[in-house]
Amino acid sequence: MDKLIITAALTGSFHGKEANPALPEQPEEIIQSAYECYNAGAAIVHIHAREKDGSTTSTDPEVYKKIKHGIRAKCNIITQFTTGSAPHLDFEDKIKSLYADPEMASLNMGSGINLWKGSEIMFSSTPSQIQRAAKIMKDRGIKPEMEVYGLQMMGDVTRLIDLDLLERPYYINFVLGMHDLFLGGLPYTPKILMFLVEHLPPYSIFNVTGIAQNQLPATTMSMLLGGNVRVGFEDNIYYSKGVLAKSNAQLVERTVRIAKELGREIASSDEARQILNLKPA
Ligand code: ZN
Repeated sequence: MDKLIITAALTGSFHGKEANPALPEQPEEIIQSAYECYNAGAAIVHIHAREKDGSTTSTDPEVYKKIKHGIRAKCNIITQFTTGSAPHLDFEDKIKSLYADPEMASLNMGSGINLWKGSEIMFSSTPSQIQRAAKIMKDRGIKPEMEVYGLQMMGDVTRLIDLDLLERPYYINFVLGMHDLFLGGLPYTPKILMFLVEHLPPYSIFNVTGIAQNQLPATTMSMLLGGNVRVGFEDNIYYSKGVLAKSNAQLVERTVRIAKELGREIASSDEARQILNLKPA
């Protein structure tokens, strides 16, 4: 098995300090949290910039650049910016983070999930939008992490491969456990994860995100299956039932402990660059 690539998803766009006061919102907080996660063993940091009032999600490439340069001044963790952002934004706004040239960016596949609690919002990317974002990423040398919420979205991945818009290895993140909020999202169970892994295209590497209480079991299962893991406040604000996590780094530290017990070595940022075929920092 390859070494384990840990991604820390620091902020997200669904909740803020009202949910966990330690959730980083502003650039300085995000830079510090990224540095702590790097020291704890994360190779990649997944970033959503926020507006000055903490609301979701900034579309200003200058804010993303400030975060990127601030992180790079402290450490060489791989920066991965969101293009999923907040569901209510226009697609062109969502992908503005690409103009800050991160090393990686998330790219939501398909339109299979829709927010249905609170207000009804289509969480959708059309085939041409996905293609356009993938082309911009390819042209700018940004590696996409393709967010897959169910088997139906694997069709979008294979279409991008057929259109020669992706470089090997293809990096696919299975997001499980969103079904409480999103119609069309899959719950996490070991069988569902194994089923998705069985349907990966050749030359793929996979990552696993488990929402809320699914974070710990889903990421542990991914380690056993040879996959990678994403932890952090975007997906889960708790350390255990009813106990808020103290920091993003605390969740990374637990992941490192479990990985070592299971015999998975941890990839440094430079090792993750080699595994993912990114340019050296
Ligand atoms: Zn995100």
